Amino acid sequence: MTDATGLVVVVAGPSGVGKGCVHRGVREVLPDSALSVSVTTRAPRPGEIDGVDYRFVDRATFQEMIDGHDLLEWAEYAGNLYGTPRTPVVAEVAQGNVVVLDIEVQGAVQIKDSLPGALLVFLVPPSFEELERRLRGRGTEDDATVRRRLAVAREEIAEQDAFDVVVVNDDLDRCVAEVVHHIEMARVSHRP
Ligand code: 5GP
Repeated sequence: MTDATGLVVVVAGPSGVGKGCVHRGVREVLPDSALSVSVTTRAPRPGEIDGVDYRFVDRATFQEMIDGHDLLEWAEYAGNLYGTPRTPVVAEVAQGNVVVLDIEVQGAVQIKDSLPGALLVFLVPPSFEELERRLRGRGTEDDATVRRRLAVAREEIAEQDAFDVVVVNDDLDRCVAEVVHHIEMARVSHRP
């Protein structure tokens, strides 16, 4: 147990906006931060490790977790289910740590309902064209999947008013510094 104030931070944004890079950057700057490992019914991509990138489960197992109230939030995204396991997040916050959640918009809104003290950060690309360029450049999805993700991204960008802060991911270092600043401000304001 430390004197630090625990905080749940949701860093959401459309697929391809660079959330993974921002999370890694935040965790380098804030050593007492952890990234929540989600469960998903999506198939692993090449290189993804079960238990590290996600816990990969089938739909029946996911449904059991919903029924058992084991998830803080969950959502269906582009045909697959994704959810945040409750126990590890609650344990980290109780230790005074920052827990970063990489989740999509519907899940972020649920977090605000279940944990009103959470900080909701929405990452946006400098432009929609840049988002498409990054998604195609990643080369991990076929054309139909990229198009589906771009369609979802347009809907998600329209939801940004539900977030506490909106940060443009134009330059990674600058973006990380801005996110860390918001986290530090939130921790100060939550201090008992
Ligand atoms: P991907 O398939 O590219 O890993 O993730 C697709 C989307 O699902 C991303 O926007 C990612 O942030 C979101 N996501 C990942 N884990 C969760 C989760 O636990 N809950 C919710 N609601 N979304 C998630």
